Amino acid sequence: MIAEFPDLPTFEPGTVWLVGAGPGDPGLLTVLALHALRTADVIIVDALVDSRILTLANPAARRIPAGKRGGRPSPSQADISRTLIEEAKKNVRVLRLKGGDPFVFGRGGEEALALATAGIPFRLVPGITAGIGGLAYAGIPATHRDVNSAVAFVTGAATGGGVPSDVDWEALARGAQVLVVYMALHNLETIATRLIDAGRSPDEPVAIVSRATTPFQVVLETTLSCAAHDAVTNAIKPPAIVVVGRTVSLRRDLNWLTC
Ligand code: SAH
Repeated sequence: MIAEFPDLPTFEPGTVWLVGAGPGDPGLLTVLALHALRTADVIIVDALVDSRILTLANPAARRIPAGKRGGRPSPSQADISRTLIEEAKKNVRVLRLKGGDPFVFGRGGEEALALATAGIPFRLVPGITAGIGGLAYAGIPATHRDVNSAVAFVTGAATGGGVPSDVDWEALARGAQVLVVYMALHNLETIATRLIDAGRSPDEPVAIVSRATTPFQVVLETTLSCAAHDAVTNAIKPPAIVVVGRTVSLRRDLNWLTC
């Protein structure tokens, strides 16, 4: 299906491909993701997937939305897994398309486990996660030799919406100089306070990258103590990634997107 890549794996009927669509920019799709989009018979797609990416799909493919849209309730995780299994049993090529990477805060693990349990063959196609792609498009290195030897990806929201209780924020504050927080907007005040209480400087640079890699990308530079307030006053929209750490300051020289 893609002439320059004749040896791509065959998307077999009766199988499910769990595919990462990246954070938004269609240019960040992998070749395998494009191959899957062009070949799929059924596409089960999350709300976070950029609409420009769906224009690349096989026009004959049936689309099943699986995310919150227009205020309608979203299907449960069990419903989605059941749909994947039922569609695969119809002996069609089932593409499960997810924003970013399926295995990074994307519930790809749950869906893959459900498929494995049901005996449905699947392939995992990684995507560029928002915490990597969004930082790159904001001109913020995830690591820099002079700043950090560790970077942590963490979610700022548990399933119920609160700050995840299984994250040791105090240990995290000491454990990695750069923190990349997904789903952080709602609980930003609490998270920032816990990091400051654990010893991070209130003046530490923070960037909030909203709608990263899309034409609507906005990057707000702030500090740990001001981040929650500034996010509100600047009307920062989700989805957004919050980056805490001194690599944020490098953006002054590395903000290539405006070039
Ligand atoms: N699997 C996805 C993450 C899904 S969780 C991935 O690997 O990127 C949803 C969170 O991802 C959002 O709340 C936000 O924190 C982040 N996110 C996803 N797309 C984004 C985008 N285009 N810009 C900024 N953050 C994004």
